[in-house]
Amino acid sequence: MLHSYDALRQHGELWDLYTRKEEYTPEQLDQYGCFPYAASTNKNILEPMVSEYLADNGFDYKYPAHKEFAVCLTHDVDEIYPPLNHALLSSLTCIKKRDFSGFKEQVFWKLHGKEKSPYRNFREIMDLEEKYGACSSFYFLATNSDITRFRYTIEDLEDDLGKINDRGWEVGLHGGYYAFNDPEEILREKKRLEKVLDGEVCGNRNHYLRFQVPDSWEYLKRAGFGYDTSLGYNEMVGFRNGMCHPFRPYNLHTGSEINILEIPLTIMDDTLFESATSYEEAWELSKRLIDTVAAYHGVICLNWHSESFHCPFKGPREIMYKKILQYCSGKKAWMTSGKKIYDWWEKNEY
Ligand SMILES: [Zn+2]
Repeated sequence: MLHSYDALRQHGELWDLYTRKEEYTPEQLDQYGCFPYAASTNKNILEPMVSEYLADNGFDYKYPAHKEFAVCLTHDVDEIYPPLNHALLSSLTCIKKRDFSGFKEQVFWKLHGKEKSPYRNFREIMDLEEKYGACSSFYFLATNSDITRFRYTIEDLEDDLGKINDRGWEVGLHGGYYAFNDPEEILREKKRLEKVLDGEVCGNRNHYLRFQVPDSWEYLKRAGFGYDTSLGYNEMVGFRNGMCHPFRPYNLHTGSEINILEIPLTIMDDTLFESATSYEEAWELSKRLIDTVAAYHGVICLNWHSESFHCPFKGPREIMYKKILQYCSGKKAWMTSGKKIYDWWEKNEY
């Protein structure tokens, strides 16, 4: 990507979009301190304008086994034990569908021990992905501080982390609510997760997608992360900086590239369902984004929360995930984790 700067710089507007210049001095932030889509001057969010320009200028990307494009599959793990409102909604859904075994599973799991929580579903998610020859990343919280409530203690999940890692799936950090602008906190969380995992952590995505351009990238790099995948909007799917390829961010303050890979987030489950009025519309939107990324030989990054699986009231999200896997596998996609995409980018010096 280094050589692309010269070409991009000649196009002021694209350069500003690529570097997210407007986020350096935001006039408006949302309730979580995130730069919102509403404040962005780029409303052409469904077109990867920067990647398009690079493709026109001869940049191309290849993938293993002659795959045409890549799908980066990721799961933020926000919940391990269903909070009360989830338990109620799921129970109601089961009753409506006369699904009594589902009802029992949602209501009485505690009787069989914490590890029977319906949201401790990593094996089922991995089994599903394996059927399509895919693998993915799970990002775990490693902090006790949160804006809404206590989530979970990462040390309780040592076994789950080991199983994910042993199968070749990735364990990454879900940077806590207070970490995105606190370099020491980021490092603390990374080390805590690495201790439980007994291995190195390469990838990060921030909780609530909290991010400060360009400082969060600098802090993550300093903490030793290889890649981040927080750059997406909470309220809109698409290409936040016009890229449908991973890239090394450029810091306009220092005038230099930051040595970390950003795999921009394209579709988050909640965002998709909130921005579409029906399941069909959500599918059409997903298909459009997949087809676009495939045409540019790019990487489409999905975030399907682990609680979207095995959760009766979020059923359509799981069905949509399967439909996306099926569609992408038919389009010869390389469906893999953030870490494997990072390794590929490093190996090929993209
Ligand atoms: Zn989260």
